[in-house]
Amino acid sequence: MTRKTTKKAAVEDDNARKERLRKVLIQKREDIIREAKSEIRKFKSGEKRQLVETVMDDGDLSVVDLAEDISLKQLSTHRETLIKIDTALRKLEEGTYGICEECGDEISEERLKILPFAIYCRDDQEKKEMMEKMEREV
Ligand SMILES: [Zn+2]
Repeated sequence: MTRKTTKKAAVEDDNARKERLRKVLIQKREDIIREAKSEIRKFKSGEKRQLVETVMDDGDLSVVDLAEDISLKQLSTHRETLIKIDTALRKLEEGTYGICEECGDEISEERLKILPFAIYCRDDQEKKEMMEKMEREV
């Protein structure tokens, strides 16, 4: 009986943690969507169009290309982050959130606070980044 009560308390603790993390993730998701939307709006009208018009006078189209490039890159970064957040939310439901996909260890709470959608522990993240860097340099 006593053991059962303890277990129940632990489950509630876990639920509270889950709820807290879910809120962080959803908040982050909304922030990014808002940012992406304003990015698109800026691109469609106002700032960026003005830039385009100014550039047109100079006849230098490469700047337009550049502005477009930067904008698209920002949007694709937003998109990638959204995918990561959705993955984290799914993991939270499945109960696999906060577990490193590489070694299966728990990712420290400290790290998750900074990077709520991290899927690797710090060591494995560093290893991955090093590998990617090496691949790019080859
Ligand atoms: Zn790991």
